[in-house]
Amino acid sequence: MAPIFNDPDLETKEQTVVPGFQTRADLATAGKVPNRRTLRSFFFNVEPDDSGCWLWQGALNTSGYGVFRGVPAHRWSYGWFVEAFPRDLQCDHLCRVRRCVNPAHIEIVTRSENLRRAADARPTCKRGHIWAPENIVRWTLASGRVVRTCRHCKDHSNAQSMARKKAAS
Ligand SMILES: [Zn+2]
Ligand SMILES: [Zn+2]
Repeated sequence: MAPIFNDPDLETKEQTVVPGFQTRADLATAGKVPNRRTLRSFFFNVEPDDSGCWLWQGALNTSGYGVFRGVPAHRWSYGWFVEAFPRDLQCDHLCRVRRCVNPAHIEIVTRSENLRRAADARPTCKRGHIWAPENIVRWTLASGRVVRTCRHCKDHSNAQSMARKKAAS
């Protein structure tokens, strides 16, 4: 079981309130500050597995995320156990298990970063070529962002543009 379960300060943690931010108090139902009873009912819904994930046993929303007190359970978990964070930021599951509510498996990211990671996690390119290491070409955009392309697709489009040039000459 993760050590956070045994954190002696867990139930007496100071509430951080940052204007405009998603506060711990915000996350609990009806603006109530999470207390011992709230935490107990949170953990009542948690079943840790061998890989360290805290699998949510309570209600799931249509996207497969746990729901606790009317908010996504993993957001509630991060907001309470780690820190308050702006509402427009997203929680990325580093373990890729949506119903996991272990705050140690969650990283706060911007929406675009989250989408990029989700695309990176797909097993194939959009034409179905496997993302094997030898099939990945990476380059850096002017913005400093690193993107990847499928070598098969790139070779294919290079061949096409060569053929077009040939036909045009
Ligand atoms: Zn997890
Ligand atoms: Zn491809």
